[in-house]
Amino acid sequence: MSTTAIFIEKRNQSICNVGLELISESKRLLQNNHKVIALYLTHEIDDEEINDISKAGADQIIIYQHELFKNYDTNVYTKALESIVKTYHFDCLLLGSTLIGRDLGPRLSARLHTGLTADATLLAFETENDELRLLATRPALGGNLFATIICPKTKPQMATIRPGVFPVETYDHHQTELIYFNQKIDVKPSVQILNVEKTEKSHTDLTKAKLIVAGGRGVQKSFSTLKEIAQLVGGELAASRAIVDQAIEPKDRLVGQTGTTVRPSVYLASGISGAIQHVSGMDKSELIIAINTDPDALIFDIADISIIADANQVLPILKAELSNQHQHQ
Ligand SMILES: Cc1cc2nc3c(=O)[nH]c(=O)nc-3n(C[C@H](O)[C@H](O)[C@H](O)COP(=O)(O)OP(=O)(O)OC[C@H]3O[C@@H](n4cnc5c(N)ncnc54)[C@H](O)[C@@H]3O)c2cc1C
Repeated sequence: MSTTAIFIEKRNQSICNVGLELISESKRLLQNNHKVIALYLTHEIDDEEINDISKAGADQIIIYQHELFKNYDTNVYTKALESIVKTYHFDCLLLGSTLIGRDLGPRLSARLHTGLTADATLLAFETENDELRLLATRPALGGNLFATIICPKTKPQMATIRPGVFPVETYDHHQTELIYFNQKIDVKPSVQILNVEKTEKSHTDLTKAKLIVAGGRGVQKSFSTLKEIAQLVGGELAASRAIVDQAIEPKDRLVGQTGTTVRPSVYLASGISGAIQHVSGMDKSELIIAINTDPDALIFDIADISIIADANQVLPILKAELSNQHQHQ
């Protein structure tokens, strides 16, 4: 029986979606004779969180409770995961490619003397001679091609995977075994947290948006119109790198390889060329509407509705139509 473990990241004392996404995707890809195991490090056990992890498809949850897990600390978490891995010897170990996962993953792989594929956007598994192999695909060479990387010689085979790439499935009535891990932690936190001050976020998380109104260089002078359209449809504004680099919109609005990966119901792309680095962050949107003056623009290759037009003319008409509808509601 081979095993794939997934680190359940917690931030601000609650679990992040990426851990659940990785459980669901692993469960979907792996056969029944493989185990998907969640590694739940927590300062207090929350039954609702355990239920969420179970419903996402975990066959086992290894619960490691300690007051030191209240806030993330590189040394403490590395040591804790190292102890778990050295006890259970997983075939594969997956983490979210988040600030925490990007800090923890490489340090842990160095401790375990094993390979890690960073920032993957696609997962696959294959079995060779009864050995489970992880195939992690990520953009390479400036995003101009995708490389599938395997590290089969050492275990666990590790990867960090971008959040928002996979959906969280619901496995109702799924049997999940709970295992309590009680090893003593003989490492001190490297940082003492005196106080946590949260910055006010000006908008909701792009990964949760159902409607995204995005603009690129072709509409750089129309961002106020795009903002109004986003408000009228109850969606979120997003941008390409060309816009963020000019500081027209902040980095947290960036979609793509170096920004956020999104999969909304509708993605309206105006004046965006469709460079691979942008498309890799939004091509799983359910409906893509693109407006571009260039009939050969790459964005049209993935668009469900293609509008070949000057977006600076189309957007005011769209805004007026939406305002009109609002007034008559
Ligand atoms: C390592 C690396 C990482 C990167 N990461 C990202 C990333 O995460 N996200 C990202 O977005 N980019 C990223 N990029 C940059 C990416 O390669 C492109 O340069 C960028 O996406 C281009 O943005 P754009 O489409 O807005 O601009 P352009 O490529 O300049 O395209 C503008 C488009 O607007 C059209 N247009 C012009 N006028 C109009 C008009 N009036 N109406 C309608 N259409 C019009 C044009 O035909 C054109 O297609 C990355 C690049 C590298 C090398």
